[in-house]
Amino acid sequence: MKMIILDRDGVINHDSPAFIKSPAEWVPIPGSLEAIARLNQAGYRVVVASNQSGIARELFDMQMLNAIHHKMHTHAQQLGADVDAIFFCPHAAVDNCDCRKPKAGMFEEIAKRFKVSLKGVPTVGDSLRDLQAGYISGCMPYLVLTGKGQKTHETGGLPPGTQVFPDLATMVNVLLKTAGAAAHIPI
Ligand SMILES: [Mg+2]
Ligand SMILES: [Zn+2]
Repeated sequence: MKMIILDRDGVINHDSPAFIKSPAEWVPIPGSLEAIARLNQAGYRVVVASNQSGIARELFDMQMLNAIHHKMHTHAQQLGADVDAIFFCPHAAVDNCDCRKPKAGMFEEIAKRFKVSLKGVPTVGDSLRDLQAGYISGCMPYLVLTGKGQKTHETGGLPPGTQVFPDLATMVNVLLKTAGAAAHIPI
């Protein structure tokens, strides 16, 4: 089984410093849902791992988060895209939980749920903590420059081997081309 793990805000949809608090505020980045559809067609399970401390901060509740994700699923399905699962951390940094990225808790849950090793699984984020959580879980980190990505790139200190792409659409094009090319290497 092929899998890819995506951050949500700043990777699939536009991010906001004021948090994404309602379905109306959830707006896809151009090409991101189409990219998820291409991943599905290439046999990838697409899993989201997202810090959502807005819940701990009481900026929105679980019902609202479900409504936001319902919008994401609906828009994705209209383009033939399917997000297989959404893992989220509802805690704030002060809660000191095990799931908030840069910790690996959500990634461990994903590995358990899907009964897979995450070794070499591509993970895409726009913040350093996304890449760190993926890296310590054995994933291949990819930084996109959407969302907070430009700032993350300028700050530096990325995990070893991090690859940088303008956005998810471009990253997926390269990933799928590489995978296709690798299939043609004679053994
Ligand atoms: Mg993000
Ligand atoms: Zn948590």
